Amino acid sequence: MIRERAYPVDPWHIRETRLDLDLLAQSESVFALSNGHIGIRGNLDEGEPHGLPGSYLNSFYELRPLPHAEGGYGFPESGQTMVNITNAKLMRLLVDDEPFDVRYGELLSHERCLDMRAGTLERVVEWVSPSGKGVRVRTVRLVSFTQRAVVAFLYEVEPLHESTRLILQSELVANEQLPPMSKDPRVAAVLDRPLQAEEMLEQPTGGILVHRTKASDLRMAAAMEHLVETPGRHAITTEGHPDWLRTTVACRLEPGQKLRVVKLAAYGWSSMRSLPALRDQVGAALASARLDGWDGLVQQQSDYLDAFWDHSDVKVEGDPEVQQAVRFGLFHTLQAGARAEKRPIGSKGLTGPGYDGHTFWDAETFVLPALTYTQPSAAADVLRWRHSTLDLARERAQTLGLQGAAFPWRTIRGQECSGYWPAGTAGFHIAADIADAVRRYVQATGDYDFEREVGLELLVETARLWRSLGHHDRHGRFHIDGVTGPDEYTAVVNDNIYTNLMAQQNLMTAVEACKRHPDLARGLGVDDEETASWRDAAAAVHIPYDKELGVHQQCEGFTRLQEWDFENTPPEGYPLLLNFPYFDLYRKQVVKQADLVMAMYIRGDAFTPEEKARNFAYYDARTVRDSSLSACIQAVMAAETGHLELAHDYLGEAALMDLHDLHRNARDGVHVASLAGSWIALVAGLGGMRDFNGQLSFAPRLPTRINNLEFSLLWRGLRLRVNVTSDEVTYSLRNGGGQARLTLLHHGKELEVTQVRPVTMPIPSAAPAGPAPAQPYGRAPVRRAVH
Ligand code: BGC
Repeated sequence: MIRERAYPVDPWHIRETRLDLDLLAQSESVFALSNGHIGIRGNLDEGEPHGLPGSYLNSFYELRPLPHAEGGYGFPESGQTMVNITNAKLMRLLVDDEPFDVRYGELLSHERCLDMRAGTLERVVEWVSPSGKGVRVRTVRLVSFTQRAVVAFLYEVEPLHESTRLILQSELVANEQLPPMSKDPRVAAVLDRPLQAEEMLEQPTGGILVHRTKASDLRMAAAMEHLVETPGRHAITTEGHPDWLRTTVACRLEPGQKLRVVKLAAYGWSSMRSLPALRDQVGAALASARLDGWDGLVQQQSDYLDAFWDHSDVKVEGDPEVQQAVRFGLFHTLQAGARAEKRPIGSKGLTGPGYDGHTFWDAETFVLPALTYTQPSAAADVLRWRHSTLDLARERAQTLGLQGAAFPWRTIRGQECSGYWPAGTAGFHIAADIADAVRRYVQATGDYDFEREVGLELLVETARLWRSLGHHDRHGRFHIDGVTGPDEYTAVVNDNIYTNLMAQQNLMTAVEACKRHPDLARGLGVDDEETASWRDAAAAVHIPYDKELGVHQQCEGFTRLQEWDFENTPPEGYPLLLNFPYFDLYRKQVVKQADLVMAMYIRGDAFTPEEKARNFAYYDARTVRDSSLSACIQAVMAAETGHLELAHDYLGEAALMDLHDLHRNARDGVHVASLAGSWIALVAGLGGMRDFNGQLSFAPRLPTRINNLEFSLLWRGLRLRVNVTSDEVTYSLRNGGGQARLTLLHHGKELEVTQVRPVTMPIPSAAPAGPAPAQPYGRAPVRRAVH
């Protein structure tokens, strides 16, 4: 686990000032760079030592068998695993015949710095070889946000004390050997040499490698080229092999002289394009990178990020650690989605092999809210990708005997890849999560073209799924039985409230969208009978409640299950899924992650404030947070129920998930949902932002330690800035002139903001919240208030 302060607190940088080889794998995830299309882990330039080498292309996967000890009808038989693609990061250095390897010789100094405004990772090292030759190495790398196919590296090396011969070998390497897999089922299956060589082309200063996967039949190409600057004579050669290509630069330098090599690399992949077409594609990407050169790429990167931070930054005063972590979270959220362009966003983005690179509801429910209000086109692209998989989802529904579309619980390409049906197939709520993301996007942007082209069909097919999955009982109540909600420690249940309320909203959003686009709806076969049946089902959705305890039941019968023995569960017993059998988790009141609490946030319009307070206290005491998707949502409901210090604690946990490696698996990639969730915790939690029925509303309140919070969001093209202090809030518009007005609710009071007329409002005093909810024994979040 990364100890606190592994990275010094700094508002815009993540800095590592000491190299700890035991933490290498975690740091490779933290320092991973990506643009949503290409991802490269923060491996050391020379490749070794490494924790986990990794380079990825969004949706470039290999198929693998999905064995079931006991098969069953409808079990998916084929899995998809993200492939570790051709590595372009490798740049090995020889210092007078001795390989630069930090495990040998003496590392005089080491610093790596992720600059979140520049979008670069820089490393500065001073090293003395075993025979006493000293060098200073400075490297900078970026995955371009502006040129989607391009990755660029700067390598500078200079001798420290005496004339030294330096040989730099820069490579492209396919089928790298990977470390053995751990026992944790969440970790990716390691694929043995997944890439088959198709073509190698060597040129004096670089070349191209083309490979193809064996079973999924996808083709990828990687190209590289080098620009060398050095004062004296140097020799440059390239040699190739089907699986590697190596450009070598050799020179002799005196102290004060520097070898500077810019390596430009380009990637492309396709399931359809021919070998020459793909080869040309990466060649062209390289030409485009060459046109702008290193300085141009660096400039474009920081311009792109200036614009991003200008409209997305969240400022938090009073807790600098959270400030840094929230920016880190936003940076990785952007990296995961920026240029994904009609491809999914995996739960680890492209930062590591965890969960096989699959996308889950994490994308629609945690990442898309942040993107919808900051980078809406990236949110739309993810939904366009979902839409492109509709035929597969319709097929899956048919296999399951259902109507409409059953989207996969986890996938890369669209087919269900979950090998464990109680937390896979039964997680039907993903359909409503997708519909919710459509609703949120259309509402926030007013993009009705999107609704016509993409949204409507997604809403209709998911509504059909709910109508066929649920049923009316003899009293007319609508039940959805045998499903699993977000809490994966309570599976295959009847009437999970989260699922039921999300399905209800899904049905009604579909009804409304069909009303807006009657012709298109008719084209999809929707008639009045069908929409009436959706309306009836939505109106009759059953919501289980325990009258005796005065709380809702997460699912039918939940509150009468046996309590989990938290007092006798030792800290090393967590996460429970790795230490206790599922059968035992399923039959007791132990909650893996926010579930009913999640429903009270997203469908907060379905609960009274009193219900929220009682439910939150009850479920917080039973929620162990074994999923990283929990803390951010608990932060939101802690804030709404008046427990601001607890909200701050949960916010800290969500934001520091990877910087502090709180779940001890950051090595497999960062937790994108939790990182995006820190935005949710701040904006929806402390800012109290909601968007029920198309009405934007806020109810900001700050915990004691945070004295100022500022965030911006996009609402129908208007840039709203919200600045919160302990006693007042200022709402201002940053565009729109005097004409455009934004009507919003501040603690229930309607107000209107224009660009020329910001509005400052006092924060009303809060109703007494009562004692803060307790957490299960040993599971309280780290307190953030200063005592
Ligand atoms: C959580 C799921 C989540 C998945 C991927 C699981 O541990 O329970 O809700 O979708 O991880 O992040």
